[in-house]
Amino acid sequence: MNAPHDQAVLHVSLGALVSNWKLLASRCPKDCGATVKANAYGTGMDRAAPALAEAGCKHFFVATLAEALELRTLLPEAAINVFSGLSDDDIPSMKAAKLRPVLNSPEELQAWANAGGGPASLHIDTGMNRLGCSLDNASQLTTDDLTSAGVDRIMSHLACADTPDHALNAKQRDAFKSLAAAFPGLATSWANSGGILNGKDFIGDVARPGIGLYGGNPRPTLDSPLSPVVRLVAPLLQSRSIEKGDPVGYGSTFIAQEPMTVATIGIGYADGLHRIIDGAGHVRVDGAICPILGRISMDSVITNISAIGPQPRGTPVEILGTTTVTEMAAWAGTIDYEILTSISPRVVRKYHV
Ligand SMILES: *Cc1c(COP(=O)(O)O)cnc(C)c1O
Repeated sequence: MNAPHDQAVLHVSLGALVSNWKLLASRCPKDCGATVKANAYGTGMDRAAPALAEAGCKHFFVATLAEALELRTLLPEAAINVFSGLSDDDIPSMKAAKLRPVLNSPEELQAWANAGGGPASLHIDTGMNRLGCSLDNASQLTTDDLTSAGVDRIMSHLACADTPDHALNAKQRDAFKSLAAAFPGLATSWANSGGILNGKDFIGDVARPGIGLYGGNPRPTLDSPLSPVVRLVAPLLQSRSIEKGDPVGYGSTFIAQEPMTVATIGIGYADGLHRIIDGAGHVRVDGAICPILGRISMDSVITNISAIGPQPRGTPVEILGTTTVTEMAAWAGTIDYEILTSISPRVVRKYHV
């Protein structure tokens, strides 16, 4: 059977993904891993992770145990790190799948040690106050306390890597430097994508980039050296002509001020086209800009195609591509991460070299 022609398609360039990883890895003094949580930021972990592994990536990071177990079936040999910490009842699964927990407290460290320990990281909070053990708690621990539980790495996370001028960066850098000195002999994991671009003080031994791999801009106020990875295309479902005064869409929030040609496109908020974008955004047909009219529906969106006139059903309409993820994020009042991770499972993924 032919693939259906009435739904949106996310085209993912595995070549661009790999070249982004290589570029970030070239900026890392030691190892560069890859963060593939949330289905590799919506691109599809089942294809993204093996492509990265084939390119030489050895360290993978996910948020949850379920993600880690799925990744283990794809990559039998890789080092798989789980950010969410350690629940006592999950220790057997962690061990059976040879996963590396990121331990977030002295209690989790103790639980891991009691279960026999094994390769793991200790996450120490240096100023974000999200996850990780406090600097106070860390100061009570020695390298030996960690290595006797198999813990071979300390980790911390930057709160403001996307805004290099933020004062918290220097504060976290100094705290992390002291930690590295307090735990001699242990490796460090420090940078996310923005951290890598912010330079060597923010990188550590095993970097954990995510957003930059997938073509998002890790520092939206600066130019990015990374390449776009996704292109989102949806089919035109129907064209019609409307008159001055005619309403468009739910709530009749758009009223035509002149006769126009409008087209309904098969992508809506259930696919990840954020409803809040409303009239702020546009799509492209053959390069022509077609503004969004009125409210975005669950499965469709209505656009002004007067510039090009009526088009046949099935005409491909570009949602993301020429429009960058960063540009769409600005329309929606959000960040690149949320645009990518909102692209729902209904959208078909197609992979390209
Ligand atoms: C998500 C996440 C990353 C990846 O960050 P990016 O900004 O996407 O590069 C790295 N480390 C931790 C702890 C994370 O939660």
